[in-house]
Amino acid sequence: MKNIYAFFLVAFTLLACKNEKASQSLANALDAEFEVYAQYFIDDLWKHNPEWATYVGFHAYDSVLTIPDSASLQKSLEFVAAHLDSLAKYDITKLKPSNQIDYELIKNNLESTQWSNTTLKPHEWNPSIYNISGLIAFMLNETYEPIETRLKDIQKRLQHASHYYKVAAGNLKNPVPELVNLAIQQNEGGQYVFETTLKDSVNQSNLTESEKTLMLAQADTALASVKGFVSHLKAILPESSASFRLGKELYEAAFKYSIQSRFSAEELYNQALNRKIYLHQEMAEVSAELWPKYYPYEPKPKNNLDLIARVISKVSENHVKPEEFQSAIEAQIPELVAFVKEKNLLYIDPSKPLVVRKEPAYMAGVAGASVSAPGPYDKEAKTYYNVGSLEGWPAEKAESYLREYNHYILQILNIHEAIPGHYTQLVYANQSPSLVKSILANGAMIEGWAVYTEKMMLNSGYGNNTPEMWLMWYKWNLRTVCNTILDYGVHVNNMSKDEAIHLLTKEAFQEIAEAEGKWNRVNVTSVQLTSYFAGFVEIVALKENLKEIQGSDFDLKAFHEQFLSYGNAPVKAISRLMLAK
Ligand code: ZN
Ligand code: ZN
Repeated sequence: MKNIYAFFLVAFTLLACKNEKASQSLANALDAEFEVYAQYFIDDLWKHNPEWATYVGFHAYDSVLTIPDSASLQKSLEFVAAHLDSLAKYDITKLKPSNQIDYELIKNNLESTQWSNTTLKPHEWNPSIYNISGLIAFMLNETYEPIETRLKDIQKRLQHASHYYKVAAGNLKNPVPELVNLAIQQNEGGQYVFETTLKDSVNQSNLTESEKTLMLAQADTALASVKGFVSHLKAILPESSASFRLGKELYEAAFKYSIQSRFSAEELYNQALNRKIYLHQEMAEVSAELWPKYYPYEPKPKNNLDLIARVISKVSENHVKPEEFQSAIEAQIPELVAFVKEKNLLYIDPSKPLVVRKEPAYMAGVAGASVSAPGPYDKEAKTYYNVGSLEGWPAEKAESYLREYNHYILQILNIHEAIPGHYTQLVYANQSPSLVKSILANGAMIEGWAVYTEKMMLNSGYGNNTPEMWLMWYKWNLRTVCNTILDYGVHVNNMSKDEAIHLLTKEAFQEIAEAEGKWNRVNVTSVQLTSYFAGFVEIVALKENLKEIQGSDFDLKAFHEQFLSYGNAPVKAISRLMLAK
């Protein structure tokens, strides 16, 4: 399952600016001044990060390619220093809550950039950050401007392709072999962009013949640069020996900047270990209850993990046929909307319907579901629920997939991705006029909310409290818990591959193919896998806290709506503001 809420589309709208201006007259002078500064920060952010700007839908710098040399590193550090200086002029305690959050998000982003450039230094050991084919593919696929305009921007970017890859190769000191392999795969995988996609677009465009000739030649040069980089990576692979494991110190820092939790990584890891024990106990109870229904003639296994695994295996047989996968998802959306309304869980804006569509070809091949939401520069665009198709899958692969996304998990997936999970949260987030919160969005809050809603829906009676539904939710929740244990275990505690596969297959009841995939993911990423559990834990804690304080006045709908009204802010910041009230 993937979320592409970070990928935004199309044109700039002035609407947000007008609203901001109107509300400024009401805010106090310091807030007004800060808001002007925050807008300046964003403008400057794009100037220093043209590729990121392209991806979020801000297209003023589409012709600029950042050469990853020491000069641009220096510029980035100057950018950080200048803005930390500007921020220091504001007394955060005097700002209104929404601006306090923006202040903290900006500060965190600056400190994180500084730390990455001076301490983490991925440019020296992670070759997978060097890849221009993804950016060019994105510019060719999206339709924010006529193809001719986009091609001219691409042309300017590609002028520097060979310089870009030369500098990249020179930056690498002692790379991580797993990341060298990833970079080889991705750069080889991206060659089709220059071999075919770009050339096809050029040939079909209305560019002049001489422009076309120039661009076709440039596509070949870019292709040669990519191939040259790949050969370089293959040459240095045998002598690459750096460990992919971050180690405790770097991991804690990465966790602090990316998750922005009130807990340390180690504290969260310990909570995950406890949660795993708790979930196993709950699952054993439910499984014992279900055993006679599914195995009427067999004695119940003594070992709890065996018992759970065998019941899960039977319950997973309840799944749709491959050809019904999409329609089953589609049919559930209105049911979820109706349930949220009936139980009065939160307001869902009917003017922003979720459009279910077949996954577009360029998202290729990954079945399941994901949300494509409009970005901060295009809030009026439609939100799509992309549903993958199992068409053409070999029967065995489809069966294994459908057992995983069985009757129960499929509903939990729809809660998580769509209603009242990611989609609903995004609609609320887009009502906040703050660009800062859209752009520097806190991933742990976004994922935590989606995970939280799964449990909240079941607690409200969704799925009729059947033991099967709960068992599957426990399994699903155990996945986020084990993601945290795996990530910290591997990067800090030297967890081996055998231990990791054992954790995922025997203790989290995953298929071996899924476990292998997770192992590969944890070799090339860090911290992101903890965001689901981190956000979930903090949201549950906030709710319990408020319930204690408010007693019988606690109102679930009001809690949800107020929580979401802060936008994509760290749960830590939202908690502070909600508890202060
Ligand atoms: Zn089956
Ligand atoms: Zn999610």
